[in-house]
Amino acid sequence: MTNWAGNIVYTAGEVHRPDSPEALRALVTDSTRVRVLGSGHSFNTIADPDAGGTLVSLEALPAEVDVDTAARTVRVGGGVRYAELARRVHAHGLALPNMASLPHISVAGSVATGTHGSGVSNGPLASAVRQVEIVTADGSTVVVGRDDPRFGGAVTSLGALGVVTALTLDLEPAFAVEQHLFTELPLEGLDFEAVAAAAYSVSLFTDWRAPGFRQVWLKRRTDQPLPVFPWAVPAKVALHPVPGMPAEHCTQQFGVPGPWHERLPHFRAEFTPSSGAELQSEYLLPRACALDVLHALDGIRHVVAPVLQTCEVRTVAADEQWMSPSYGRDTVAVHFTWIEDTAAVLPVVRRVEEALEPFSPRPHWGKVFTTPTAALRERYPRLADFRSLAGELDPAGKFTNAFLADLLAP
Ligand SMILES: Cc1cc2nc3c(=O)[nH]c(=O)nc-3n(C[C@H](O)[C@H](O)[C@H](O)COP(=O)(O)OP(=O)(O)OC[C@H]3O[C@@H](n4cnc5c(N)ncnc54)[C@H](O)[C@@H]3O)c2cc1C
Repeated sequence: MTNWAGNIVYTAGEVHRPDSPEALRALVTDSTRVRVLGSGHSFNTIADPDAGGTLVSLEALPAEVDVDTAARTVRVGGGVRYAELARRVHAHGLALPNMASLPHISVAGSVATGTHGSGVSNGPLASAVRQVEIVTADGSTVVVGRDDPRFGGAVTSLGALGVVTALTLDLEPAFAVEQHLFTELPLEGLDFEAVAAAAYSVSLFTDWRAPGFRQVWLKRRTDQPLPVFPWAVPAKVALHPVPGMPAEHCTQQFGVPGPWHERLPHFRAEFTPSSGAELQSEYLLPRACALDVLHALDGIRHVVAPVLQTCEVRTVAADEQWMSPSYGRDTVAVHFTWIEDTAAVLPVVRRVEEALEPFSPRPHWGKVFTTPTAALRERYPRLADFRSLAGELDPAGKFTNAFLADLLAP
């Protein structure tokens, strides 16, 4: 079995798809090493239980999506993907506050890694979670809500606490969104704060073949003012963020209003997202440093451009999940869609990490990075709290793997 991108072959001894909560509990109790597989969209070994371990997929469990319209919440099963969740929530006249670039990913797997969309006022997707239900190492279920002191470690959990069988999310009334696309935004003279705040969600794309951005995607809620964007040129044709890919894979553009879940992701659920032949990396840094970060990358663009398909710059509001890459700081997130060539890409990943080092970058947990564990430890001030929560819920380290072992070691 491989991940979505095909760059990781899981080394698990066994793959199980339990079809009932009882079967899941029995499997967890009887196994010595377990990791859960979401939709497999991560680009590293975070989901791999290592040789001899048990990989558990929740796709055969009932796909629960229980909307409570009065409370404006939804309880969603641990294997459900955003595409299905969004469709069901919208049918009740309700909405999630934000989505990632694609709806293909599982909700539990996304919030476990700190997955995010964009927007200066939008936290990562985990910010919508109000309660999490976890089957822990002994097969019992632990329910952790926002008022529980363990909540800060329980949602962006890197899969280290147990099997998340359900999440309860806050909803809001459904809203409409328009996408306004622009081209040719120069880096010279960029007012990053003004650009990032120009709409509900803003993404900048560059191939780093020149300073500046080839595309700007503004996602405007129709209940908010029309964007004023004097710095770039309105797009004349529909665009895909990856050069050479067809725009029909992307959600509707040209300011045509539509439901939130058909505009907030860049990619449509029925098509392959992004290019499909790629690796990805992403670094989350203090938003106050955004311009310095962009100039540092511009300084190495001759190294970056040859292995790059596209680079996306977004913002994420600070959140309170201890292991979230946007924990405690308003964030600029710089994402790289690389070519599908690990040997060529890894040295460039290291160069990017060196260039960003002065800004204390936190790598996306689901993407390719080479940051040493010692540096990660310094960048997560609540790591000790997370480690003690993992020790409390999983004393024998059943849900640990090689990817996490150093990080979670005392
Ligand atoms: C084309 C593409 C576009 C992307 N766009 C974005 C983007 O816009 N923003 C962004 O931030 N990221 C983005 N990502 C990265 C992606 O969101 C993350 O890798 C995310 O974790 C994928 O979710 P998944 O369900 O595939 O998780 P997986 O890769 O399957 O698993 C990730 C982690 O979650 C754990 N996990 C999964 N389910 C459970 C469960 N039920 N209980 C306990 N642990 C669980 C796994 O054990 C693993 O540790 C993108 C990835 C791709 C391939």
